[in-house]
Amino acid sequence: MDCFEPIRRINSRGGCAPHLSIRFDSHLFSIDTSRSPKSCIQPDAYLITHAHSDHFGRSAMLSPKAIASVETARALEIRYGRRYAGRTFAVGESIMVDGVEVRTHPTGHTIGSTAFSWKTETGESILVTGDVKDYSSLPHCDFLVAEANYGDPYDPSCVFEDDLAGFFEALESGASFGAYAFGKAQRAVALMRAMGYRDEIGMDEQSLILTRELMKDAAGPLTEVNGGGTNVVTPWNLSHVRSQNKYFLTGRRDTSYPTIQLSDHLDFRGLMRMIEHISPEEVLVYHPEGKRASMMAYHLKQCGMQTTSLDLIEKFFR
Ligand SMILES: [Zn+2]
Repeated sequence: MDCFEPIRRINSRGGCAPHLSIRFDSHLFSIDTSRSPKSCIQPDAYLITHAHSDHFGRSAMLSPKAIASVETARALEIRYGRRYAGRTFAVGESIMVDGVEVRTHPTGHTIGSTAFSWKTETGESILVTGDVKDYSSLPHCDFLVAEANYGDPYDPSCVFEDDLAGFFEALESGASFGAYAFGKAQRAVALMRAMGYRDEIGMDEQSLILTRELMKDAAGPLTEVNGGGTNVVTPWNLSHVRSQNKYFLTGRRDTSYPTIQLSDHLDFRGLMRMIEHISPEEVLVYHPEGKRASMMAYHLKQCGMQTTSLDLIEKFFR
């Protein structure tokens, strides 16, 4: 699509900075990338879709040109112990950047996770997804920049279903759970409350601070590890937990604890449904870099869709 130009920054070592920027009309937006050095071309804004480290908010958060949801900005501050220097928005609201409206859409991947969309002066639309668990709030667009965390149709681990029944059963049995502090831990607590669990939930320090601050009252009563009827702790702290049954909430298979499948992501089928829902004319697969993105781009091409991936972008700036 000619109106949108995906472009990558070359960093000081000669390699590509993470992810990409999009140029349209007279604008340049960088997405999920690290800051450009002062001597380099500066984008209109650094958009941060969420606070996971592979989306580079740790670097972008230090720029006054950073744009992130209130929750993402706070999560970055807690995780990295630095002050967020940019602007914030409430997910679902628009934010103006140099006279352009940037619309924001929830994706259900983490608390505060956001997709961004814009319209050009001539009315074409673009959407960048970030990581997605729930695509129902994403609008139609002409040019889609999509994630592909589980985008490889030939990899059996890219097709899965959350084991909510297994999670409920484990919770009833008094088990405790290993979950990464940002994202999975809040998903686990939200699910427990939705399943009717009212007792205190024990959490280790990072998980406790993040869950209290990001979920507020919806988290219900939280306490320190072993202080309640169950625990949600980072996986390496599961050994300190007194419960008899312990599970790691993950799709990974290489763990020493039994696992319960609970994902922050769409699986391959979900990604395909998302693309159908958005029904773009062209797709650029942008995350994660590497095989998964290429395989999904290849699959979409086979389905007759105009598709490209990050490794095929040929425009660069410094
Ligand atoms: Zn993520």
